[in-house]
Order: sequence, then C-alpha cells, then structure tokens
Amino acid sequence: MIVFRPSLATGLVFGLALVSACEPPRTGVGEGSGTPEGVERDAVAAVFDGRAGAWVDLTHPFGPGTIYWPTDTVGFRLDTLVYGPTEGGWFYASYAFATAEHGGTHLDAPIHFAHGRRTTDRIPLRSLIGPAAVIDVTTRAHPDYVITIDDLSAWEAAHGPLPAGGIVLLRTGWGSRWADRTAYLGTDLVGPEAVPELHFPGLSAEAARWLVEERDVVAVGIDTPSIDYGQSANFAAHVTLFSSEIVGSENVAGLEQLPEAGAYVVALPMKIEGGSGGPLRIVAFVPDGL
Ligand SMILES: [Zn+2]
Repeated sequence: MIVFRPSLATGLVFGLALVSACEPPRTGVGEGSGTPEGVERDAVAAVFDGRAGAWVDLTHPFGPGTIYWPTDTVGFRLDTLVYGPTEGGWFYASYAFATAEHGGTHLDAPIHFAHGRRTTDRIPLRSLIGPAAVIDVTTRAHPDYVITIDDLSAWEAAHGPLPAGGIVLLRTGWGSRWADRTAYLGTDLVGPEAVPELHFPGLSAEAARWLVEERDVVAVGIDTPSIDYGQSANFAAHVTLFSSEIVGSENVAGLEQLPEAGAYVVALPMKIEGGSGGPLRIVAFVPDGL
C-alpha cells in the first residue's frame, strides 16, 4: 500500500501561495533564496510561474455546443452588442450573454437541493479550493453505472484516506463524449420526455452518505451532467451532499489530465447573489513528478 502524503510539501507551498497571493511581493523570484523565507517565497512563486508543475483547465467552453439539461431548450446565448471599428478609430467588441445556472461546466450550490443551505455567493473559498482525489472508474463505467463505497475505498487502498478539505472528482470517462450530445446524455430527446431516458454514470446514494458521515470532503465533481446517475428518480446523492453543505461540480472536463492523487483544484463560479449554482471555471495544479 502506498501511503498518501503527497502533498505535505506541496500543500504547504500551495496554501502559502494562496494566502500570500494578495500581498505585494517584497522581493523578486529567487531573491533571498538562501534564507528560509526566501526559499518559501520562491516555492510559492514556482506554483504560479510554472516551475513547480502545470496548471490544467477542467472546463468545457460555453458556446453553441454546450450541453444543458434536456428541459432547457435555450442553451447558451451570446448576443453581439457592438463589433467593429468605431468613429474614434479604435476597434471595439462587446457581447451580452445569457445562460441557465445549471448547464455546461457549472457549480451546484447546496441550496440547489437543500432548503436553507448556502447560495452561490455564500460558499466559502475553502469549499472551492483544495486537494483533489480523482476516483477513476473509466474501465468499468457504463451508462447506468453508480459509483459505490467500494470505488472510494479502492482509491483509499492505493492512496490513503481521502484528504480532509478535499475535492472528490469522479472520473467516469464521459467527458470524452461531450461533442456527441446523444452519447453524453443517453438520449437525443429534448424536453420533459427526455428526462426518463437519461443514461449516464453518477454517485450512489450510499457513497454520498459515506462521504458525508465518514470523511471530511468539501466538494464533489463529476464528468457527467449530474452527480446523480441518469436514471435517478430522487436525486439522493444531491440531497445528501448538499444538506451537509458539500458543493457539486458537473460537466467537468479533462479529468484524464490529473493524477489520482496529489493535484489541487481551484473551482470558482460566477458569484451570483442568491444563486443556486453558476457557470464555473475550474482548473487544477499538477505538481511535477505526478
Ligand atoms: Zn447543476
């Protein structure tokens, strides 16, 4: 068994980097690196300037091909307000966009399925930034697959306990179907009649309860349209997680870029006052050597 301690060094560095991100630098990169403070500052800088690893994007673009829940027939709208040369001589472009909260790569705020729980604007940053645990079920996932406690336990057997404050990312392989709406959703229907025909993997109710009761994670993301699998009729995983203020991310992209353990996630939604979710830009930092 490989013990999970990855991230002690990188975690410290990354945490320091985030904490100190708002402070003006007192020295340049590498300057003063002979002192403990200088080494620390240089390590922080190395997270952001690419020397200590790579930042990867886990976000599908918003556009005409963005997949929404089948009851949403509008999708993502981008209307041109101005595009072209101005009388003043400069070029100018400006658009207005409109979208439902729950389409494309997006965040689910706890209030989405739990009355009285946090809205998007009230989610603390500690629920949006943290060490990633990637649960890879791509080799056994099928359109009605539910991720079990055994799947989570298999990750722990290889890497140790799920990290406290961690972000669990469920990798089913569905992200590679994104360009094919029918393959991604399991149906080509649109509207309310499509909902009973949805087929894609999700998290089982039992595994959601286990995460809430037995572990200390802050968020769960998945590379399918919903944390609950397509055939769910009661959205039990949503209700269980969100009742405990665990947030969700759906339609997450590019999870094949991440190691199972050792990466860090930053998942920042549009800060919608009173919102139940919102468009998300989710990225990850993968330290060198993983
Ligand atoms: Zn959602």
